[in-house]
Amino acid sequence: MNHQEDRVSLHAKNNVASLLSHYESFTCDTLRHRHFSHADLISVIDSYEAAGEQLDWLEVHNLGASFEGRVIKHITIGRGDIPILLWSQMHGNEATATMALMDIIQFFLRTQSGESEQGLITLSNHLLQNCKLHIVPMLNPDGAERFIRHTAMGIDMNRDFLARTTPEANLLIDLAADIQPYFAFNLHDQVSKYSVGKTPVPTAISFLAPAYNEEKEINDTRKEAMQLIATMSDALKPYIDERLAKYNDTFGARCFGDNFQKLGYRTILIESGYYPQDPEKQQIRKYNFIAIIAALEAVTNESYKKQSLEKYENLPFNGELFYDLILRNLRLEKQGKSFVTDIAIEQHSCWNSEKNSYQYKAKIAEIGDLDSFHGHEDHDCSGLHAELVCGSFELEDSPTFYIKKKDSMCYIFENGFLSSGSDKW
Ligand SMILES: [Zn+2]
Repeated sequence: MNHQEDRVSLHAKNNVASLLSHYESFTCDTLRHRHFSHADLISVIDSYEAAGEQLDWLEVHNLGASFEGRVIKHITIGRGDIPILLWSQMHGNEATATMALMDIIQFFLRTQSGESEQGLITLSNHLLQNCKLHIVPMLNPDGAERFIRHTAMGIDMNRDFLARTTPEANLLIDLAADIQPYFAFNLHDQVSKYSVGKTPVPTAISFLAPAYNEEKEINDTRKEAMQLIATMSDALKPYIDERLAKYNDTFGARCFGDNFQKLGYRTILIESGYYPQDPEKQQIRKYNFIAIIAALEAVTNESYKKQSLEKYENLPFNGELFYDLILRNLRLEKQGKSFVTDIAIEQHSCWNSEKNSYQYKAKIAEIGDLDSFHGHEDHDCSGLHAELVCGSFELEDSPTFYIKKKDSMCYIFENGFLSSGSDKW
């Protein structure tokens, strides 16, 4: 590393530390959990639009409407020459990055009004001068409203690049064609089963520079996306260290990332995963914010071009070693016979219209030897037996059962959660 590279990387590190220590002031307060509605998001964007009325670096446009007529916004930030496209929530129940995108806008509003430290104000000036961000948050508002993956047409938008059946996919394809992004950020959430390679560590964030052909060749476009990922991983590593991974790089002929890469937009997939004790993904939202700002800085000063591809290659691929809950060595009864086995449970959040709120629902994902798997919550139930209240111990079912020691109650399993009983594990 020469002297100048040293200075650039030291500078970037300082900025990441400052961004983290001032993160609270950049957090969009209206969105504090990931089950927000389209109306919640629009109220945030409206407030930003009002704040930005006199500013020459912030504009809010209507990009178009979803299948059910919900407005999809397109927010531009900056006066620079480098167009950068960022979109989130093309899968309606993957909301983490939408929160981070709102934090990024707040970062610019705060720093540009002088309400931050000098280093971050300088960074903000520098980004506005060099970049033009095109932010499309919540590309699938109909799915977001129901907190489901698919659009209101029942289509997975990320498989609709070629067919262009959904209005939402068309809006994004046309916008990208219009602005010709230098970098494109495809922002998603991944399921909680992923581990960092084969280690017992759940993946917090996984990255991918999607392949543009079956052979997974590396051209200059994809190479630069890989280098920028190396920079983002450098920014996050001191804080989440081994919790970073790479997403599956199989070429998806129908998918956006793969096709954008093919079109020459340097495309990066960020998947928000699992972080302990963080069901609303507020930690991972923060790491999205940090990684994206660090990436923008590296794009404007071109420091990412010095990154080696090994750093990207060395990120382990996601493994699939986790379940949300594992109950081990639990005695079950079926057809009058009993046996001891392990049960794995997957928890999903879903909308409960009776209670007008979200709640977790669980289903049995696997029964049998789960020695090679880990539970985000993991209990040894040796000496305990399960007594069914309703449902069944079948795959995909969501039973309610008591976990008992002889005749005394230990735990109740209901709606995907164990509630406390008389005994400790
Ligand atoms: Zn997704």
